[in-house]
Amino acid sequence: TTAAVEPYPSNTTVFQSFHNDTQEHRANATFVFLARNSDINGVVASIQSMEDRFNKKYNYPWVFLNDEPFTEEFKRCVVSLLSSPTLTLPRRVSVLTDANVSFGLIPPEHWNQPEWIDEDRARMGRQKMMMKGIIYGGSVPYRNMCRFNSGFFFKHELLQPYRYYWRVEPNVKFFCDLEYDPFLYMEEHDKVYSFTISLEEHEPTVPTLWDSVKEFIEEYPQFIEPQNSMEFVSNDGGIKYNLCHYWSNFEIADMNFWRGEAYTTFFEYLEEKGGFYYERWGDAPVHSIAASLFARRDQIHFFRDIGYRHENFQHCPSGDQWSQGRCACDPQDSFDYTDHSCLKRFESLF
Ligand code: GDP
Ligand code: MN
Repeated sequence: TTAAVEPYPSNTTVFQSFHNDTQEHRANATFVFLARNSDINGVVASIQSMEDRFNKKYNYPWVFLNDEPFTEEFKRCVVSLLSSPTLTLPRRVSVLTDANVSFGLIPPEHWNQPEWIDEDRARMGRQKMMMKGIIYGGSVPYRNMCRFNSGFFFKHELLQPYRYYWRVEPNVKFFCDLEYDPFLYMEEHDKVYSFTISLEEHEPTVPTLWDSVKEFIEEYPQFIEPQNSMEFVSNDGGIKYNLCHYWSNFEIADMNFWRGEAYTTFFEYLEEKGGFYYERWGDAPVHSIAASLFARRDQIHFFRDIGYRHENFQHCPSGDQWSQGRCACDPQDSFDYTDHSCLKRFESLF
């Protein structure tokens, strides 16, 4: 039966059940889903899509995180969805949830704007960005979210047991059946970061980010991987940022990379600059720049066979991958080689 299991601290609820592993060799991996209580409908839609196209066969656990306590209603919806017999294969005998599901509260210091941020300067930054019509330009919660996803999610106690994660957001779609385990793919091919869509960032959200990156490189050359992919993020060998980033609402990645010395030092360096609040540094450019500088280029993977949509863009596989995956998308409608995509640039690395 489903029951709260000790010994988790009181700000978390863990549902666990006995389950038959459907695969002998599993990765040490989980889904990570940051959400507000009000996101519930979109959360349900995303879980449904992921379970249907992949996880019903693999049964990886789900971790939900929130800066406010999840309501009983939210948890009930998620748990009952993951317990639904329509999402389980016939050969599965278990009665309730097959996946383990846990709900965690984010510590305030991992979420809120730090005390030492100069609020007057931050407010001016927000106003300036709003005037330019930049999306979320005036939002503090959005900045909290970007900073949390940049430097803190992998420190959450519920994620401590895990190495690999797959980030999921509300209202995303997975278009194709996935007939293999991408976590194991990451592990077996020594990948640290992966994506399905890459694109250019809004420049006004990161006007000084690259200056900080250049300073960091000067100060800590030892962290730069010799086989890096600087060419993904810069067209001139590192003088300027070309705004390319991997779209981080989809990520399958190795948390050991974020937990390691290079990224830890990098994040702290950026944090001290205050750009998460004075500007609106996104977790996507921060993660992408780090992956480009601290990982070998062959450790970054494009999951061409994972059909994925997050408004307003999608990646739809084509050819054999489209038919084998029974993809519910139009292969002509794919961001891959459109004007603001950075996929060509990624592919030219190899
Ligand atoms: P967008 O994809 O950049 O438009 O941003 P989203 O609104 O989708 O937010 C990104 C992720 O962070 C989603 O999973 C949201 O549910 C989550 N998120 C955004 N803001 C908040 C917040 O204030 N609190 C919580 N708990 N989650 C948030
Ligand atoms: Mn989103």
